[in-house]
Amino acid sequence: MYCEGTPSCGIVAVPEAELPVRLPEDVEFRPGGESPLTTSATFLHTTCPKCGGPARRETDTLDTFVDSSWYYLRFLSAKDDTNAFDGALADQWLPIDQYIGGVEHAILHLLYARFITKVFADLGYLHFREPFRHLFTQGMITKGGVKMSKSKGNTVAPDYLIKRYGADTSRVYTLFIGPPEKDAEWSDAGIEGAFRFLNRYWRLIEPRMDLVAQAIVRASRAAVEQPIALASLGPKAAALYRTAHGALARATTDFAEFKFNTAIAAMMELINAISLDGQDDAAAITVDTDRGAAMGEALRLLTLMLAPVAPHVCEEVWQQARSKAGGAAVASMPATVFRQPLPAADPLALVADVELIVVQVNGKLRAKLELPANLDQAAVEREARENPRIQALLEGKEVQKVIYVPHKLVNIVAS
Ligand SMILES: [Zn+2]
Repeated sequence: MYCEGTPSCGIVAVPEAELPVRLPEDVEFRPGGESPLTTSATFLHTTCPKCGGPARRETDTLDTFVDSSWYYLRFLSAKDDTNAFDGALADQWLPIDQYIGGVEHAILHLLYARFITKVFADLGYLHFREPFRHLFTQGMITKGGVKMSKSKGNTVAPDYLIKRYGADTSRVYTLFIGPPEKDAEWSDAGIEGAFRFLNRYWRLIEPRMDLVAQAIVRASRAAVEQPIALASLGPKAAALYRTAHGALARATTDFAEFKFNTAIAAMMELINAISLDGQDDAAAITVDTDRGAAMGEALRLLTLMLAPVAPHVCEEVWQQARSKAGGAAVASMPATVFRQPLPAADPLALVADVELIVVQVNGKLRAKLELPANLDQAAVEREARENPRIQALLEGKEVQKVIYVPHKLVNIVAS
């Protein structure tokens, strides 16, 4: 306390016999940096034990940094009123695998937390010396170039967004706003984009629920890793299948690296591909065709990728697909989309769909062509002969024969 007598005794300690000083309950919590203790007159004003004059208690009692230095220990047994924390539970659950916070935590809170953890470890209460294994520092959301904060009154209430667009849209927008380690400026137009994206997903999948149901049933029954064999698909179905697995591979890596914005971008590209495929000869896309199977699989994979980002709409899709599948098939489908792990991308689908064909004239290497892997012999020969360099070499000559080694080589014998 500080003695306010005349003359003042200065800073005076509370006599040991008067400890502990109990915290008051008549405090008011107001926004801003001021300690709530300053609002309690009963706490604030006391008597100097030295001179008996008026005195004022210190209101910076226990900095919040002290509390945030060990809350991760306390959270494990928050209702324990006999110990500060439970060492056995700490050994079982800690250290924390991943810490996510603003960069402003790195120099104060995280530093103190490490220090306190080391002290507890030195005293034998903990068996680890670092509280957090990994740190990811996310950027701040700004509005009008200013950091969003309650004290500045420039926050955007999620309630309003959820009411108007739904929780899924709010999540998609927040995750799509930019690289999570960078600051990002809030934009009302951006949230409209997220809303359109989810609407597009719904319009695309809703009339094709039978394809999705079929894909889910096929996947739950598949004994092999991939429910569809790429080699069994025609060119159009294979192209969509490749795009879907390409998006899955990207989203999987991006999720693991906290790049939610690029994961969502991959999903948006997949939606474009599905939409284009759907516009082309829609009658050929049914449950009985390879294109229907590929589209069903693409929509299934998209739903699994999107589920962590837009859980409500994806769970709705899952439930509708379940009722569409009906009967015994339902038993082979997880009851919720969140029980279905993200499958591994098909490595065959990730291999570039072009191959290098060597073109020889009379046994000498004359050209290398990058051609689609699915061309037949006639098409590869035509590509070889139409190559300007080969054309020049063959001018005035007559082709005697063509030796063709599939996926490797065309040798034109001419004289
Ligand atoms: Zn005094």
